[in-house]
Amino acid sequence: MTTRVIKNIRELTTNDPSLGVGVTGRLHDAALVLDDERVLWVGPNAAAPAADQMIDAQDSAVIPGFVDSHTHLVFAGERCEEFEARMNGTPYHGGGISSTVAATRAASSDELRGATEKRLGELRAGGVTTVEIKSGYALTLDGESRLLDLANEFSDEVTFLGAHVVPPEYLNDREAYVDLVRGPMLDVCAPKSKWADVFCDRGAFDVDESRAILSAAKSAGLQLRVHGNQLGATGGVALAVELDAASVDHCTYLSDDDIERLCASKTVATLLPGADFSIRAHYSSARRLRDRGAVVALATDCNPGTSYVTSMGFVLAIAVRDMRMDFDDALWSATRGGAAALRRDDVGHLGIGARADVVILDAPRAAHLAYRPGASIVRRVIGAA
Ligand SMILES: [Zn+2]
Repeated sequence: MTTRVIKNIRELTTNDPSLGVGVTGRLHDAALVLDDERVLWVGPNAAAPAADQMIDAQDSAVIPGFVDSHTHLVFAGERCEEFEARMNGTPYHGGGISSTVAATRAASSDELRGATEKRLGELRAGGVTTVEIKSGYALTLDGESRLLDLANEFSDEVTFLGAHVVPPEYLNDREAYVDLVRGPMLDVCAPKSKWADVFCDRGAFDVDESRAILSAAKSAGLQLRVHGNQLGATGGVALAVELDAASVDHCTYLSDDDIERLCASKTVATLLPGADFSIRAHYSSARRLRDRGAVVALATDCNPGTSYVTSMGFVLAIAVRDMRMDFDDALWSATRGGAAALRRDDVGHLGIGARADVVILDAPRAAHLAYRPGASIVRRVIGAA
């Protein structure tokens, strides 16, 4: 085991209030000691203990690695034409998912593996060190199983999303598809997944269908997440809370009752500003959630149709400018909030014993991530072994 000391940190965000100031546990002129797996020591630069290796942060900001708790990384093809048409006035209805399903079904496993690896490389280069990956672009028993096998090559946070949309061949018999997902498909996919998710919204699955699928998944030992309230106040938030889902994602349309429910639960509200941006929706009410005390996460929702975004810096920039989140709240939501959405307490912070997932920025303050949108200011990403 090798120890490393990161010295000359101008601004260190630990997300551990016992180590520094505020919710971000911030220190200035700090140092950090890691071994291959964990954070060992945090404190003033002048008091840093010796270690096997020294990394000079060169008077820059250091943050915990981002926790991207919502991605659809395993897919083939792209939908740029759909994006262009949408920007020119064609509204989003969710139907474009079928074109990615066709491309993904036709792709070889090597093609899918290569494409996933490339997107994951982009996420990592932007400072993401923990990533959740969903299936959901095959929508057949064998196909979903294959996507989950591929996702497991890249992450431990793997989500079965057989209920992404009803595939074309079942459009006249939705019930049969719901029965397939919560029956034989779940039987095969549950052992390959930590999570189950349903797209509970207009054009996808209604609340009763979603409840049937999620309840079966819970009985099969999976933990739950829900795509909810993206295209309308369609009941996804209430269902997620009812079933104790770890997270309900999108939350673009929220009633006061929805916010009340979230605040009284352990379900995290995960906001996906890249999706709101890419379908030109209005933005989620981040401030309403925060003011009422709900736990908020931010994630990329990287997918080819509605958020082909692999930059957490870009997500932070939108969250700050257009959702009007304070930068520190947004940074917390993209790190510790993402960890809460995955029910993890070992990532998303740099408290003693946390995983050694550290990002050194090429900027004096972390807020440059929002201040300099589009610039690549991640200098070095250190991931735990
Ligand atoms: Zn999604």
